[in-house]
Order: sequence, then C-alpha cells, then structure tokens
Amino acid sequence: MDVNQQHCLNCQTTLQGTYCHQCGQKDVNRLSFLDLWYAFQQFVISWEAPFARTFWSLSVAPAETARRYIQGQRVRFAHPVSYAFWMMTLMVLLASFKGVSITNFSAQTDTPASVNFVREISHVVDNVLAYLTFLVSWLAALANRLLFWRYHQRVIEYFYAQLYWAGHITILTILLLLFNLYSRTTFMTVFAVSIPYYVVALARFHQTGSALGRYLRAFAAVLLNFVFSAVVIGLGFAVYAYVVRSSAIFNS
Ligand SMILES: [Zn+2]
Repeated sequence: MDVNQQHCLNCQTTLQGTYCHQCGQKDVNRLSFLDLWYAFQQFVISWEAPFARTFWSLSVAPAETARRYIQGQRVRFAHPVSYAFWMMTLMVLLASFKGVSITNFSAQTDTPASVNFVREISHVVDNVLAYLTFLVSWLAALANRLLFWRYHQRVIEYFYAQLYWAGHITILTILLLLFNLYSRTTFMTVFAVSIPYYVVALARFHQTGSALGRYLRAFAAVLLNFVFSAVVIGLGFAVYAYVVRSSAIFNS
C-alpha cells in the first residue's frame, strides 16, 4: 500500500492534507497492531472522558449541564440518549446479576389472582424499564413545554434534558443495588427523591422570570407528567391485560 496517498481510500477524493475534506477519513496505512491500540485508546477517551465529565456535572449542576449541552457544548458532554441508555443498562444488568426486581411492587392484595397479576406487572415493568424511561422522559418534555410555553424551548430539548436527569437519578438505584441495600420500598423511595431533583433542575434550567414562578411551574410540570405517564402506561397495561386474557382464552 502506498504511504504517500494522493486519493482518499474511502471516497477517492484527492487529498489536500492528512484528513479527507470530503468524508473526514485520515490517510491510512496498512493495518498494524498499533491501530488496535489507537482504536482502544480512542474508544476509551471518546467514551469515558465525556461520560465522566457529564456524570460529575450532572451531580453538582443538573440544570446547567443540560443547558450547556443544548446551547452547543456537544463534544464536552455525553449524548443524553447514550447517557440514559448506559445508566439504565448498568442498572438492569446489576439487578439481574443480583437477582433483584427493580420495581418489586408489593402484592398486598388478598386474592391469589391479583397477587399474580401484580407480580406479573412488576415483571413486565422490569423488562421494559429502560424503554419506559424514554417514554416517560418524552411525556415529561411535553409537560415542560406546556408549562414553560413562554420560554420557547423545543420539546426535543426538554427531552434531552429529561434524559440526562432520568439517567442520572438512576445512580441512586445502582448504588443501592451495589451495596445490597435494595428493598421492597426502594423503587418508591427513589421515585420520591427524584421529584425534588426534577423540580430544582427544571426550575433552574430556565433563567429568566421570577424564581418562585419557575419553581411553581416546574412542580406543576412534574405533576402533569405523572398524569400523562399514568394515562399512557395505564392504557398500555389495559391493552397488555386484554391481549394476555384473549390469548389465554384462545389457548384454553
Ligand atoms: Zn474521503
């Protein structure tokens, strides 16, 4: 292979420097073990540094982190979808490794049928928890857009902010799982703790207007998101129960 390349080996464009101005590929030589080392370094640096920075930044300043990402510091921080995805994945893997149900809705009902149904719902929610986070974050974005309509943020911008916060709050569950402190009530406790986190983050995410107004709106947005989520997830379970029941009848 020619070391002094005239053309990009990826798209054949005439090279004017080390990097192709058309497709961005670097002029390459024959593969060597050094490439493997560089690839590994590149992967660790490009993934770990923004991830660690995002993690730290969301711990001390959740609102500012989301705002900075949205306003253009895209390389500095991890992508919100990727951040939420990795946090949820870590939590789900850890829970399955420890043999713990994340939701573990306590079945304190009297009939065995409803105990089974609640257990089944818990099992289903455990399996789709990562997807539910994305769904609930989207509903939260809609609620935020409605309550803060005057700020002209886009729904997608709220969605990314919510993903950061939802992903980050997962660290509580991860830590509790890690130290074997996960109990029946943990899901609800984390849920309760996350409310003030969302309210403060959302209120501080917006910079103009009175602080009291922003906090009230943020609180209302979180409540509205509960309503949205309850309706959408409730409908989801109604459909699920209907499908399960009709397939049970079908099979009998
Ligand atoms: Zn090229």
